[in-house]
Amino acid sequence: MSGLNSPGAASSNVLELKLSMSRTFDVGIETLAGQVAVVPAAAVAGRHGHLGTFTVRASNLASASDAKLTNPAIASESSDGTKSFYLETFGCQMNAHDSEKVSGVLLGRGYRAVENPAQADLVLYNTCSIREKAAQKVFARLGDWKTVANGKIIGVLGCLAQQEGEEIFERAPWVSLVCGSASYRKLPELLAQLEAGGRRVTGLDLDTDETFETEITRRDNLIRAYITIIEGCDYSCSYCVVPHTRGPERSRASEAVIAEAERLAGAGYTEIQLLGQTVNSYRDPSARKWSFVELLRAVAAVPGIRRVRFTTSHPNDFHREIVHAIDETPALCDHVHLPVQSGSDRVLRAMRRTYTREEYLQKIEWMRAAKRPISITSDIIVGFPGETEADFEDTLTLLDAVQYDTIFSFTYSPRPNTSAKDMLDAVPEEEKSKRLAVLNERQRQIQIANNEKLVGETFEVLVDAHHAARGQWTGRSTSNRLINFTSTRAILLGEYVSVRVTRGGPNCIGGEHVL
Ligand code: SF4
Repeated sequence: MSGLNSPGAASSNVLELKLSMSRTFDVGIETLAGQVAVVPAAAVAGRHGHLGTFTVRASNLASASDAKLTNPAIASESSDGTKSFYLETFGCQMNAHDSEKVSGVLLGRGYRAVENPAQADLVLYNTCSIREKAAQKVFARLGDWKTVANGKIIGVLGCLAQQEGEEIFERAPWVSLVCGSASYRKLPELLAQLEAGGRRVTGLDLDTDETFETEITRRDNLIRAYITIIEGCDYSCSYCVVPHTRGPERSRASEAVIAEAERLAGAGYTEIQLLGQTVNSYRDPSARKWSFVELLRAVAAVPGIRRVRFTTSHPNDFHREIVHAIDETPALCDHVHLPVQSGSDRVLRAMRRTYTREEYLQKIEWMRAAKRPISITSDIIVGFPGETEADFEDTLTLLDAVQYDTIFSFTYSPRPNTSAKDMLDAVPEEEKSKRLAVLNERQRQIQIANNEKLVGETFEVLVDAHHAARGQWTGRSTSNRLINFTSTRAILLGEYVSVRVTRGGPNCIGGEHVL
């Protein structure tokens, strides 16, 4: 993509985006961890250092859908008369990337991003409803505007918007926009209604086979670019709100995905993460009807792309061909996140997970037999209704059998619009917490052992943060291991470097730069 990230455009560590209407957006550079990083000018000059500073003009933007911008660190007032927006995101990676696309829609309409909601004309919350706490947090944010909305437009997007619908207007009458993710394609129309003075505007339609395509996507992550390949979910896990909040499964055409990957490579990105609630259920709706594996191989073959990740995989759609593709394609990362949720067949049935423990372990076997060692991570829920001590023990023995590199563990919490909500035999909260602690301690021991075995190994790491106070850099290996390391070099952000592991703790790996 010409004009973006070109060496000639590099001039400072502040990125500048100019639109034809003479609107200017100044944006700072942010690391993966969300901390603002100071990037010396020299670090942003290289084409494949891919932290380029650039100026995007309107002529570029018309065709350039991937302005690689970061979280705005903006002038404090709309002195030029443009409309401004503030967007806060809760929840998962899918939400974070949806926000990048929503921001793109707003930038394309001439809005400018601000860091402080008090300075924004339009305040949006992109919400999560996976757990009660996340929902409460959003209502607390909305409560902040009760007496001070002052003509601002307040909007709720995402899962909570879909789940609560027009009820949000009842609880927070100062809200003007409620829009679920399945209706994001209608955002320009909804914004136009608001701009014309519309008081209450909703996008809550779930009945769609369309995906959310944007002319502009604001890229908040300078190291890794996200591409959604499938939206919604056709499974019906009994504890999960996603089918209700994100609608039915719909895949993007492979041509659109490849074109986006090519644009990202042209903008200097070398790492792409393909996203979907069930990413490996991908089915190309276009005439070429590519499978997920064909798409994976094609994205990995895009010139300039060195790493391709994908998340989240459903065990039911995890086929051996995915392992073969990882084995045969160095650009496909050797990491698979395969949520199991429970080690007990009885609980898996109650959860409607559509696989048995044995079938799940078969998939783990395929990965363990791969030529490239594959790092495996998972999600686990403890305290699902009816989970007995014996069921929980099955989950612990599954941990022992798989030896995950990391797990994300949760206690079950009932959610509206799920079939598990009214199940009997709830596990008491105290017992859930006890089981969670036992699970985490078992996994901690596994991680200590796994990480200690890595001492002496050398990994190629893509550097994504610098912690000046600790004198450390941070980066990820292709197996998605987070490695903290020291280096005598002063500029590394965005580079691929070799790091030798010198220590392995339960939650972190330490190393040193091999020059
Ligand atoms: S597969 Fe199950 S847990 Fe995952 S999004 Fe779909 S319903 Fe939810």
